[in-house]
Amino acid sequence: MSALNTPLEIYKLLNKSNCRKCLLPSCLAFAAAVIQGQKKITDCPDLDDQTIQSIIGETVPRKNFEGEMADQLTGLKQEVEKIDLASVAEKLGAVANGDTVAINCLGRDFIIDSYGELNSVCHTNIWIHGPILSYVIHGQGKTICENWLPFKQLQGSADWSRFFSHRCEEDMRQLVDGHTELFFELMDLFGAKEITGGIDTDYSLLIHPLPKLPMVINYWLAEDDFASKLSIYFDSTAPDNLNIEFIYTITRGLVEMFRALIVKHNMTGKLF
Ligand code: SF4
Repeated sequence: MSALNTPLEIYKLLNKSNCRKCLLPSCLAFAAAVIQGQKKITDCPDLDDQTIQSIIGETVPRKNFEGEMADQLTGLKQEVEKIDLASVAEKLGAVANGDTVAINCLGRDFIIDSYGELNSVCHTNIWIHGPILSYVIHGQGKTICENWLPFKQLQGSADWSRFFSHRCEEDMRQLVDGHTELFFELMDLFGAKEITGGIDTDYSLLIHPLPKLPMVINYWLAEDDFASKLSIYFDSTAPDNLNIEFIYTITRGLVEMFRALIVKHNMTGKLF
């Protein structure tokens, strides 16, 4: 057996029953938790000893997400130091100012300096910092063509699409289901624009997590025997403008940010 480096490789060895005996909502969540070092493989009671031993011998546990991102950030910052920010600003839809560049993320400016540090009047977090640096370093600045595709149809998304569906679309759907009005109020605050005349949805919104990474969020309310539904679409140029892993990361970051804001609002009555 080759080394098990990704959640998908662990997931393939599970029985996929989503029985929750590991206290997580699904086998997919469990696989991700094992890779991130948050769960031990023995926490799934349905694996036989032989499989457990083979997994223990081959798993390369990752640090927790924050530790892993911190390592990635160190490398990304070193790469930013080699870049003339002013020369890449225009193609990225950013604004150069001396040694810094301002990138608009959800209607707010985030300032990157020549050392890769990130500053904003908004709260910044690790989910945002890595994708913004990657956008600056590797983004090709392709022009948006408005050919909208689900994540699973984006080039290079095969290893990430199950996780995107589970941790981004499904988690966001649950947030919207529980806090529909508040969620769309937040979207409005972050510069979302309503889309009309497209497919038949209850809500269809366009937001810009990065200037050349637009995202369309479609939501259908539950009706009669039909559950609610949420899908996220990207422009077909998305993987050229941001590495696919960071598209997953920044979307996951949005879900976490909205979740934190909703929790705060419910406790204090305020959003910011
Ligand atoms: S206990 Fe095992 S089979 Fe059940 S959900 Fe967790 S990982 Fe899947």
